[in-house]
Amino acid sequence: MIRIAIQAKGRLSEESLELLKEAGIQVDDTKRKFLSQSRSFPAELLFLRDDDIPQAVALGVADIGIVGYNEVLEREQDVEIVDRLGFGPCRISLAVPKTVDYPGLEWFNGKRIATSYPNILGKFLKEKGIDAKISVITGSVEIAPTVGMSDAIFDIVSSGGTLVSNGLKEVEKIVFSEAVVISGRNPDAEKVKVWEQIKFRINAVRDSRNMKYLLMNVPNDRIDEAIAILPAMRSPTILPLAQSGWSSMHSVVAEDVLWDKIELLKEIGAEGILVLS
Ligand code: ATP
Ligand code: MG
Repeated sequence: MIRIAIQAKGRLSEESLELLKEAGIQVDDTKRKFLSQSRSFPAELLFLRDDDIPQAVALGVADIGIVGYNEVLEREQDVEIVDRLGFGPCRISLAVPKTVDYPGLEWFNGKRIATSYPNILGKFLKEKGIDAKISVITGSVEIAPTVGMSDAIFDIVSSGGTLVSNGLKEVEKIVFSEAVVISGRNPDAEKVKVWEQIKFRINAVRDSRNMKYLLMNVPNDRIDEAIAILPAMRSPTILPLAQSGWSSMHSVVAEDVLWDKIELLKEIGAEGILVLS
């Protein structure tokens, strides 16, 4: 039985649950408890605040965790990043009131910076030789300059809308984050095997999310050209049609090039093109 820690409630919880569900690890989340066992896979989910996930994994309370890279960096726990998941993208940035004529990092000397990420900020300032005072606030960091608690902030930014609506501007992007999978340093062999199985499923789900299944009819004398347009995972499947001179061609195509490929296929005479998810 492998125990996976995920965020109980917040920006990463739904996508974490959804990803596990698509990988065949379902829990009954209508009555979500602190700890839920999956019916479909030898795993249980531990629902925690994201702040506590790195520590839970470092202590072995959970075998793996899904959490923002920002929290992994800040908590400084002894865990290993085993995979990057791509969702929950954001950055941690320094922001100043929009009226400041910002000359560069030296502006921060002697200033007070409010943040929920004192460890990351402390290291960064030390590395750059900036002498600023860090005030730790756990919520609503973006209002600190307006109410006179600080001169600047170091906080999470995704679209930047929150900064703008608080009269701030982003001046330095320090850390880029996304949801990651973490594990303890010395997991036992049995757990590693289960994790490899989950990882295989997650990758398959992730790959298939970006792929489409394409079917079409192609005149037999244009098949070579069609294959050149559509290099599939191995190669496309070709089936003869009842009508002579034509074949049905099936392939898997990456979503971002799908429509360009379809244009090329139409030009060589492909007909009856269907796109399936
Ligand atoms: P918890 O109650 O679990 O402590 P929280 O309030 O600390 O939750 P959320 O706001 O739910 O955290 O954010 C969880 C994670 O989502 C962040 O740590 C970060 O990795 C990611 N994230 C992505 N975009 C944003 C954003 N605009 N603001 C905050 N977090 C974001
Ligand atoms: Mg938190």
